[in-house]
Amino acid sequence: MISSVATIAGLREKVADARMAGKAVGLVPTMGALHEGHLSLMRRARSENDLVVASIFVNPPQFGPTEDLQRYPRDLARDLALAAGAGVDVSFCPEPDEMYPPGFATWVEVEGLGERLCGASRPRHFRAVTTVVAKLLDVCQPDRAYFGLKDAQQFVIIRRMVQDLNIPVELVGCPTVREADGLAMSSRNLYLTPDERAQAPALYRALQAAEAAVAGGVRDVSEIKREMNEFLAQATLGDVEYVEVVGTDGLLPVARVEGECLIALAARFGGTRLIDNVFVRG
Ligand code: AMP
Repeated sequence: MISSVATIAGLREKVADARMAGKAVGLVPTMGALHEGHLSLMRRARSENDLVVASIFVNPPQFGPTEDLQRYPRDLARDLALAAGAGVDVSFCPEPDEMYPPGFATWVEVEGLGERLCGASRPRHFRAVTTVVAKLLDVCQPDRAYFGLKDAQQFVIIRRMVQDLNIPVELVGCPTVREADGLAMSSRNLYLTPDERAQAPALYRALQAAEAAVAGGVRDVSEIKREMNEFLAQATLGDVEYVEVVGTDGLLPVARVEGECLIALAARFGGTRLIDNVFVRG
């Protein structure tokens, strides 16, 4: 049976009880509209912990003024059923006021990393993510917290925050779950028109071309991008926002793939912004 709590005090109480009983606690932060990507994190948390907590909270400050906060898909009853099926014990579903009461003024900001890649077009997005994740980690005090590598920049930034603030949690980065045609699962895929949906897998095909190029010995980033662009050009309904090859610590662009690198991209299909990435090693 899943139990649902909406208050910070309620969540603290549940976790304190589990801790008293010597249980390991796993946390899966989400914004709801759950799909197989989220459920894979929950199942992993189930397999590695005694108590699994999932938060379902559409975090208002991480949406820019022209972004999709109002229309972000919300269906709590469906989400709770899916989370229960994936083995979640406690869902934490606060209202915005519970997380940001009147007078709220404290932000956790990881300098530099949050301005690159997606941060260039989403100013203040990542500081809202790190703030809410810091609060969730503080309230829940999990042994482990689970994040998808689909949001690789988010993972790198949270990893930096956890190191810098000495937060005693093990971060678990989980592989990207994809649709049968390769499109990375995302709550925002629901917004795509049928034509956009048909073209969106070009993003992953471009990333696969990059992976194949690196596996075949290509190291020069401009050559890798050239190969990717052949696939991206096929998505005539998509506007590529960025394609970058960066180091995995500082997220700074590299000219050659040497050691572990992240190849990340973002594209807009109509009003829908999609991201995807692969990790490669040269
Ligand atoms: P969101 O609800 O979009 O904030 O995502 C909650 C968590 O699920 C984040 O850690 C995401 O990285 C992760 N996630 C979202 N989509 C996927 C996916 N397709 N595969 C794996 N993890 C995902």
